[in-house]
Amino acid sequence: MLRVAEHWCGTDTGLQRRANEDSLLVRSPLFVVADGMGGAQAGEVASRVAVETFSGGLGDSEDPQRSLEAHVSRANARINELSHANIEHAGMGTTITAVYVGEQEVSVAHVGDSRAYCLRDGELLRLTDDHSLVDELIRQGKLTPEEAEEHPQRSIITRALGPEATVEVDTRSFRARPDDVYLLCSDGLTTMVGEATLTQILLDNPRLRDAGEALIGAANDAGGKDNITVVLFRLEEVHGSVFDPVDSEVTMTDMATVSGAAHEDVADPSHPLRGSGLETVETSRSGNGNQAVDAPQAVVPRRPRRAVRVTPPSKSARVRRRIRRLRATLVGLVVLGLLAAGAYLALQSVYFIGTNQRGLVSVFSGVPYELPGGLKLYSSTYVSGVSASTLTAARRQTLLDHSLRSEGDAAELVRQLELGQLTSGG
Ligand code: MN
Repeated sequence: MLRVAEHWCGTDTGLQRRANEDSLLVRSPLFVVADGMGGAQAGEVASRVAVETFSGGLGDSEDPQRSLEAHVSRANARINELSHANIEHAGMGTTITAVYVGEQEVSVAHVGDSRAYCLRDGELLRLTDDHSLVDELIRQGKLTPEEAEEHPQRSIITRALGPEATVEVDTRSFRARPDDVYLLCSDGLTTMVGEATLTQILLDNPRLRDAGEALIGAANDAGGKDNITVVLFRLEEVHGSVFDPVDSEVTMTDMATVSGAAHEDVADPSHPLRGSGLETVETSRSGNGNQAVDAPQAVVPRRPRRAVRVTPPSKSARVRRRIRRLRATLVGLVVLGLLAAGAYLALQSVYFIGTNQRGLVSVFSGVPYELPGGLKLYSSTYVSGVSASTLTAARRQTLLDHSLRSEGDAAELVRQLELGQLTSGG
């Protein structure tokens, strides 16, 4: 069973736009990027409405592909309605790219030119076709992919959420593997940075945060002409009691069958893994001779899916598994809550004397430490009128040594100091 080991997301206005009309939503294992367009703030509205449609997650869907498609259609209808309801929103639209990680597969739905990629074995595989003018021209043989990268109209999209009451959504599912790194991004990244550079940046930066920041940095270094949004996540294999081994067997067997049945889709020359020179993924290191099981090809084509439908795990098995997960989550939450409450109470009952930012002697509750990330384990409870600079060195040393005291002890010391009752020696 696969799960998202870590993720990172970031969005940047870029160097030439005044506002950021991109939106993103991370609700692991669901990831969504939208790139809005339209006058005034309409683009922001469109992209935000699009990602908010996903804010409840996909639920316990047995068919993530169809659930993604339904969400995208709902987003389209909402944006279309809003664009008619308000003159300021007329004509607004947005791209959308949504990716859901299932137990074995990754499902992608998209409209427009925000892309999804998978980095696997050092290669960057594009999982989406742009619905853009230049991509149409490439498909018609009027433009080479290299020419398209430089084309002045490369940002013109031919499909978006909003302009029409209904929209055609592209959906696909891919066989996922542990250590796969997925990248979702708006065109502010891909029109500025070529795929060779994207690949190199991802390979050079194994930490997702470093990679994400480097990608946004590269787009800005190249001119930052558009808003840049980057979502990255890495998959890992998990074993253990959260997963019912009976279900695992069912899934594996059925998946192999489905992969085999889906071969005509893979042979489609318009397939993104074919058309973009990424055929090499087919020569994966699969030891069992069945390349289909291991390669990230389209496992489930959109329309024929119903004919080769996977038998879902039995209902009682799913319910049992869900109850087990829920119980594990609840126990974890209770333990965390008790730990946090204990730590909080402990911190509330100790005090120390120090100086505040203005150099005034103060009483703090908690302990004189900061956690990485700037989270302070103390807070000021009393600020005296005495500046530490008026104290002798010896007094400063004994009074401001940060030793932990009771509240009464700390308050009494500072009170004596204020009343001039503490002798300067100690
Ligand atoms: Mn854009």
